[in-house]
Amino acid sequence: MQADELAFLEEMIESAELLDCTACGEDTLHVHEEVNSIAGGVTEVIMRCASCLSTRPHLLID
Ligand SMILES: [Zn+2]
Repeated sequence: MQADELAFLEEMIESAELLDCTACGEDTLHVHEEVNSIAGGVTEVIMRCASCLSTRPHLLID
């Protein structure tokens, strides 16, 4: 595995967090999928449930 790939994976793991998943009906580990939008200090990211693989938006506020 290349160093940049490893760094990317480490970043993904670091950004994983427990969020409410509507599909699972409980708090599950979600990993950062992509940045959806950035506006006025609010970043909307797409988080993917590690259990059922469904995605949901999540707001990060600075
Ligand atoms: Zn889920």
